[in-house]
Amino acid sequence: MKISEITRIGNTIQNDFQSENFAEVLTTYALTKSLKISVVDEYGNFKISNEDYVDVSPPMDRRSFLEEFGKLQDEGLKYTVRTIKIRNANNSLVQFLGYLGNLSGTRYYISVASVLEPVDSAIDILREQLFIVSILSLVVAMILSFFISRRLSRPIVNMSKTAIAIGKGNYEIMFKTGEYQEIDDLADTLNYATGELKKTLQLRKDLIANVSHDLKTPLTVIKSYGEMIRDISGDNKEKRNEHIKVIIEEADHLTKLVNDLLDLSKLESSIDQYNKEHFDLGVLVDGLVTRFENYKSDFTFEVIKSGNLDIFADFKRIDQVVYNLISNAINYSGDSTKLILRVEEIENGVKFSCQDFGIGIKEEDIDGIWERFYRGSGNRTRSRVGTGLGLFIVKSILDAHEFKYGVKSKVDEGSTFFFIAKNS
Ligand code: ADP
Repeated sequence: MKISEITRIGNTIQNDFQSENFAEVLTTYALTKSLKISVVDEYGNFKISNEDYVDVSPPMDRRSFLEEFGKLQDEGLKYTVRTIKIRNANNSLVQFLGYLGNLSGTRYYISVASVLEPVDSAIDILREQLFIVSILSLVVAMILSFFISRRLSRPIVNMSKTAIAIGKGNYEIMFKTGEYQEIDDLADTLNYATGELKKTLQLRKDLIANVSHDLKTPLTVIKSYGEMIRDISGDNKEKRNEHIKVIIEEADHLTKLVNDLLDLSKLESSIDQYNKEHFDLGVLVDGLVTRFENYKSDFTFEVIKSGNLDIFADFKRIDQVVYNLISNAINYSGDSTKLILRVEEIENGVKFSCQDFGIGIKEEDIDGIWERFYRGSGNRTRSRVGTGLGLFIVKSILDAHEFKYGVKSKVDEGSTFFFIAKNS
């Protein structure tokens, strides 16, 4: 490195010979790079030097001159660089010797020299220091990594313990937060997942409890009426028929419950498999009304249709929605026997509404009626009319279609359930 630096400087100085500020260039290099620079003419006279023997010093003796610059003259070289061991000292000298040029018939030469500092001892010291520094950093790194890994892994270990506890059925336990951002995010997500799991399990428990209760009640009634026929009304035709009618009604109710449950499980297992097609909602409503007219001959069904009633939906599922709404309207009609069904084209879709003039829904019940197994508070006594699943099925289907729906109702005046089907 030193040799190539000296060579570079020597070449630059050679190029600057004859420039006006040549002496200045030399001084700058000499001072900034700690160099010894001298310019001599071909007779060995020192012309410029940063050492103070210019003028006072005698010219170089011929032998020294030839030793330094003879090679340049003999071989016609522009410069050479050599390294000289300094006698009695532990270091060497790098020297650039170059030919500068001819000025007024006299040839000039330059010598640029620099002492090579002894590096061996420096290297020894550095090596020792590097060793100490390496050991120190290793120790510090180990201590740091011990603490950092404890801080990083402790929350993860805790989480895995929590997860095992949850796996064993303890849903009350929470994933701890408060360590660092990523772990907090993970804990929040896992807590959310646990919450959802808890809800699902609660739902399953409720479902089993509700279903078993709903199955037990009609079965008890059927059994006791059966026994009554066997023991009491067996020969009394009138009483027997009355009791048999109750048995048939209860069996019907059981059938409805089982059908609703089947619908529900179908809905939940194939929530995405909707077969959407274009069809006329008016035609669908007409078809259902015909079915209901046969079975509820005491009811009048007024159907009001207007506009283009084409919609894009799953025919079977929408059929089920309309069926459930009409069947509820009939069930909760009280003494009224009239229903108005409207199917009308509106902006971007078709609105279906089913209006009855029955018992209506209390305001506090309105939000709950769409829930699973929810039965209006006024209906407790007639709990055997429905299963509490009808509107939940309606809601699930309409939600999956992204259709809007709702209800307007007033106690003792009646209710209007509606949904807005899209046509694309
Ligand atoms: P259910 O099998 O009990 O009818 P639904 O889910 O269909 O179950 O309805 C839930 C509750 O909403 C019913 O128990 C009833 O209280 C109320 N409801 C539904 N439709 C009507 C209606 N047309 N008029 C009055 N109340 C209704």
